[in-house]
Amino acid sequence: MKAAKEKVVTIDYILRDDEGTVLDSSEINGTLSYIHGTGAIVPGLETRIEGKSAGESFHADLMPEDAYGIYNPELVFDVPKNNFEDAEELEEGMQFQAEIDDELHILTIKDIKDDSVTVDANHPLAGQELHFDISILEVRDASAEEIAHGHVHDENDSHHNH
Ligand code: ZN
Repeated sequence: MKAAKEKVVTIDYILRDDEGTVLDSSEINGTLSYIHGTGAIVPGLETRIEGKSAGESFHADLMPEDAYGIYNPELVFDVPKNNFEDAEELEEGMQFQAEIDDELHILTIKDIKDDSVTVDANHPLAGQELHFDISILEVRDASAEEIAHGHVHDENDSHHNH
């Protein structure tokens, strides 16, 4: 079976940055299962996996625009300190999630000033070329329920009383 729309694809992966530093891997976080064609993984990787079958391995070099996007300086802005509940506990480099225009963003604290905090809403990997080593472990049909929910159902996962 080949990876295509509405197939559940399970992969082993190693993600490295331009310096060769491992940023993430299935060894660290476990194998990844996702529904192909739903944008669950970065677009360049989804394109490269398309049509591949279990047992295939490959290396993919992705430009930022095919990965987490180009770095956008306009997404760096100041937030008044009193918008934060625990302003005293904030530190540079800290990350948190916030909804901006109905989209969930990871914000990184860049600078802490007297009355405001400079945050960066770019994805932490925006602007970076990414290098993946991928092994396709399994390709199967997604169930109707998985397609309806938009995510993979793991037999051992009990969140599915819905
Ligand atoms: Zn579900």
